[in-house]
Amino acid sequence: CGIVGYIGPNEATPFLIEGLTKLEYRGYDSAGIAVFDGNRIKIEKSVGRLGILEKKIETHQPKGHIGIGHTRWATHGRPSDCNSHPHTDCSGKFVVVHNGIIENYLHLKEELLTKGHTFASETDTEVVAHLLEEHYDGNLESTVKKILTLIEGSYSLVFMSEDEPDKIICTKQDNPLVIGLGEGENFIASDIPAIISRTRKTYILSDGELAIVTKDSVWVMNRQGVPVTKKVFEVNWDA
Ligand code: GLU
Repeated sequence: CGIVGYIGPNEATPFLIEGLTKLEYRGYDSAGIAVFDGNRIKIEKSVGRLGILEKKIETHQPKGHIGIGHTRWATHGRPSDCNSHPHTDCSGKFVVVHNGIIENYLHLKEELLTKGHTFASETDTEVVAHLLEEHYDGNLESTVKKILTLIEGSYSLVFMSEDEPDKIICTKQDNPLVIGLGEGENFIASDIPAIISRTRKTYILSDGELAIVTKDSVWVMNRQGVPVTKKVFEVNWDA
């Protein structure tokens, strides 16, 4: 239901928690974050209010400068720790957060099961992480483009990979996604209130657009890879 992401020189976790708090008004049943610690991506998630997640990580806040977070409004799979986002593949190298519904997830899941994938959740979202693992060609960007041809439905999707920890990739179809443009850092969110305390310069993604976000650049293209020139949208109201 709510999505946030951070890449830059600062610690990711404080922004992820703050951003998710700003999106609480949308309602949710669970929350989670994934942060790359320089070696591995650490996931912390929990059913219930954000306060429960905050308590859980109180003594061991995930440290790192790139991360993504999510508050879930369950559509496929009951609210539970396992079904909370972020989701990952078998290797734990790929993580994904998702708003919306992957309509053809059952079909994709059956195919992935026959290829030996095992699933940790009952969600539609988890197939996306396994698709990345299954189709990874050494390049997250081209792999994301490939798997987007396989999934059907409505989504805001944000991806991170342990093998390419210098970027976050995101895309959307019939669900909102915004990129906050900072100085030497960038932010991702499903809605403007999450980022307004950090920057007022944004790119509002349109359906079918894909963004490669690093700490000092944002490349937007369509799913065929054709660059899209985005206009900066300046937020001139207060959340
Ligand atoms: N369909 C996904 C799930 O049930 C995402 C729900 C959401 O938008 O929060 O896990």
